[in-house]
Amino acid sequence: MLRITGGQRRETGPDGEWVLRRIPGAAATKVYRCPGCAQEIPAGMPHLVAWRPYGDGEDRRHWHTSCWDRRSHRSPRPPRR
Ligand SMILES: [Zn+2]
Repeated sequence: MLRITGGQRRETGPDGEWVLRRIPGAAATKVYRCPGCAQEIPAGMPHLVAWRPYGDGEDRRHWHTSCWDRRSHRSPRPPRR
């Protein structure tokens, strides 16, 4: 079994600090809706959970790994023409 408690890390994004946990496919037993693309994360797909380091954890959100990467690498001032 994977040790899920070892998979946490902190990340600072354009909207503040988040704690991330990687969810392996075997632990993804429910369908979630990704706030990045508004599409479903099917059961069995490895993904990420993100929540604020402060608070009670009720703001946990499940993200596609690729959507989270896109989000956190986005520049604070996106190039617009
Ligand atoms: Zn997504």
